Amino acid sequence: MYIPETSKEEKINYLKGLIRDNSQMVCILGVGMEIECGGKNLWSNDEAYRIEDEYGHAPEEIYSSSFYATKKQKFYEFYKKEILDQDIHPGTAYAALKKLQDSGKLTAVITRDIDGLPEEAGLENVIRLHGSKNVNQCPKCHKYFDLAYMRKFKGIPLCEECQQPIRPKVMLYGEMVRNDIMTQAANAIRGANVVMLLGTNFGVPMVDSLLQYYEGNKVILITLHEHYNDGNADICIHGKLEDILPQIVI
Ligand SMILES: [Zn+2]
Repeated sequence: MYIPETSKEEKINYLKGLIRDNSQMVCILGVGMEIECGGKNLWSNDEAYRIEDEYGHAPEEIYSSSFYATKKQKFYEFYKKEILDQDIHPGTAYAALKKLQDSGKLTAVITRDIDGLPEEAGLENVIRLHGSKNVNQCPKCHKYFDLAYMRKFKGIPLCEECQQPIRPKVMLYGEMVRNDIMTQAANAIRGANVVMLLGTNFGVPMVDSLLQYYEGNKVILITLHEHYNDGNADICIHGKLEDILPQIVI
């Protein structure tokens, strides 16, 4: 694929044409999408220090299956305040993806975020590698509970039927992506003509392992911050997704 070593405007024009002339596109969304919608990157250095200070544990320690198994009260103190209570909603980047999907060109959206923003934006065929904060289940009676139900509890959210602590259906540290979901994601990538990496980077293990299934030469990377291996993309633009996506999906 031709890689224009040109200005941002020329790259945007090039991508506009590429989107116009292609179909079978798949997007892989990363934390950058969530941050632009008002979310926090809990795994950034600044946030990690704050969390360790506030809760006495590093975020990857609290957000783990072993912590959940043994310290549910503390887990939920963190999970509710830092994740469930975030007031985030899809913006113009998501609107552009919706437009792309409505035009029949976007076949699947693969996300590592648990924020539920793709569904709120009306996107379909969303493959959620790490689950969703909107999906919660009682381990005993298997009843599902939504975000509103989880939010209303002060301490540990309990099943209304059997009073058991409800388990958020999200992937915690120490857990693996479900095989069937990974297969679904791999199949989507295998059938893709164009892959767009949005708000993520190469070097993220999930991104790299999914790209192994891609046989084309149209990997588009759009991300705010430069990263040393951005050159692995066939075309890369740095900037805000909410600015760039509406310009290339017309
Ligand atoms: Zn129950």
